[in-house]
Amino acid sequence: MADLREPDCLFCKIVDGTIPATVVRETELTLAFRDIHPQAPTHVLVIPKAHYPNAATLAAADPRTAAALLTDAAAVAADEQIAETGYRLVFNTGKAAGQTVFHAHVHLLGGEPFHEGLV
Ligand code: IMP
Repeated sequence: MADLREPDCLFCKIVDGTIPATVVRETELTLAFRDIHPQAPTHVLVIPKAHYPNAATLAAADPRTAAALLTDAAAVAADEQIAETGYRLVFNTGKAAGQTVFHAHVHLLGGEPFHEGLV
């Protein structure tokens, strides 16, 4: 795993424990914690512990960790008992797509029916 930290990155500070978070799962490569502004009954962010600005840069540099985001999101969905009812995984990539924290993360959203969306 790359030992990458950005001193001003919010999610790096959560990884370091400098900023508190409600952690629901931790592995060697990843951390999963509840979103501070939940958009669904279950809204968890799964992030690499190493700093990459977005999912694309993570996937290019470290595909093993990129894959771990998906397997860990599935594990959290099972723990949250939303695996059967369905859930959505969202990677906002780039400011124009709504990304506001430039440390790669996937949103795990579930626990209620979804409206028709863009996809
Ligand atoms: P983005 O808009 O895809 O970059 O998602 C960033 C997410 O981080 C948003 O859903 C925010 O609500 C969430 N967020 C921002 N600060 C914190 C925090 O301190 N703890 C947990 N989630 C946060």
